[in-house]
Amino acid sequence: MLPCRACLLPVLLLGLLVSCLHVAAAAQATPVSVHRTDGAAAWRSFMQLLDARRGSRVVGLGELKRYLATFGYLPKSEHDLTDAFDEHLEVAVRRYQSMLSLPVTGQLDSATLNRIMAPRCGVGDGVSVFLSAKGSQSGGGGTVSRFTFFKGEPRWTQPDPLVLTYAISATATVDYLPPKAVRAVFRRAFARWAQVIPVGFVETDDYDAADIRVGFYVGSHGDGIPFDGPLGVLGHAFSPQNGRLHLDAAERWAVDLHTETKNSAIDLESVATHEIGHVLGLGHSSSPKAVMYPSLSPREKKTELTVDDVEGVQWLYGSNPEFSLSSLYVQDASMSPGRSIWLAGSVGFVCAVLVILVTHL
Ligand code: ZN
Ligand code: ZN
Repeated sequence: MLPCRACLLPVLLLGLLVSCLHVAAAAQATPVSVHRTDGAAAWRSFMQLLDARRGSRVVGLGELKRYLATFGYLPKSEHDLTDAFDEHLEVAVRRYQSMLSLPVTGQLDSATLNRIMAPRCGVGDGVSVFLSAKGSQSGGGGTVSRFTFFKGEPRWTQPDPLVLTYAISATATVDYLPPKAVRAVFRRAFARWAQVIPVGFVETDDYDAADIRVGFYVGSHGDGIPFDGPLGVLGHAFSPQNGRLHLDAAERWAVDLHTETKNSAIDLESVATHEIGHVLGLGHSSSPKAVMYPSLSPREKKTELTVDDVEGVQWLYGSNPEFSLSSLYVQDASMSPGRSIWLAGSVGFVCAVLVILVTHL
């Protein structure tokens, strides 16, 4: 026996509302949290800019402009480092929010400031400089995930088979990290990339002759890009075929987060994997789950290559014949964009059924 239309309609509408709320929550889930406990003083002070928008004048906006210029969102020759929030700054903030997959408001809201203050890679995001995205995966909530390259898409071009040597400096080190543990970290990080592209990596003791040279440095260290102390910038690497991979020795590096107790600890393997991506020719990705996303929170571990990372590096080098991308697609199916699409599709189906039911009652 069917219930009457008057009884059924409120129940159906309530069910639809609950479904929609559930989907909205899933689509907006933020995969990366910020645990900032220490850091470069200049970055910490950005919180005083909360809610600044076009037309505002707040002490510190000039410093923020310097930050945005450093990472590619304003021209480096920008002379207007006043504390005025003008239209150029608004455009830069919007670009930053878009690149970091944040809500694009053009204002310095808390989500944007938290991301700005989070530790990150020192390589610029190159929004106006070397963005040449080839991958594009439309996700739920308007998010676009994509990888990028350096300008000109440089890559290593030795003859096949491509085998790169790497060396870890015996002198540019941090005293509390056992060399053996650091070497094991880099061996695992290189192996992840080697798994997906037809490129081999071989460790050598001949630092000067190595294709890829890894070292920990403090402050100014000879390449014109000084490090900034604890947190802030964590490391940087150069595009092919330069081979330099530098890490900020002032960080509290962890080779094992299970035994490292400091809240400000940075996972070495995560940063190593990211910087090797740069060494191979990848720029930053706007996909928050990607290894090549620019920022990394303290105690966060992000070492597994996502589909976005793999598609990017394979664009440059092709695929390792023994690797199947489909296995990663299965793994990524639980990630928010694909899940959002699936959930949105489910809601569409539920809505259609409801309409049919209601019109036939
Ligand atoms: Zn980077
Ligand atoms: Zn350097």
